[in-house]
Amino acid sequence: MAAIHEFYELVKEKGKVKARRKRKMCPRCGAGVFLAEHKDRYSCGKCGYTEFRKKS
Ligand SMILES: [Zn+2]
Repeated sequence: MAAIHEFYELVKEKGKVKARRKRKMCPRCGAGVFLAEHKDRYSCGKCGYTEFRKKS
């Protein structure tokens, strides 16, 4: 079972709680640089870091 909470965070907005998608950040470039989402992987456009998605 996929750990969906890793990719979503709960945000309170105008009294309502919403699940907001959390984007993966590049471990090399650090905070502020997000990984581009592909069907089977994530990749950083800045340094070329690639992280493969786990098969579920
Ligand atoms: Zn990077």
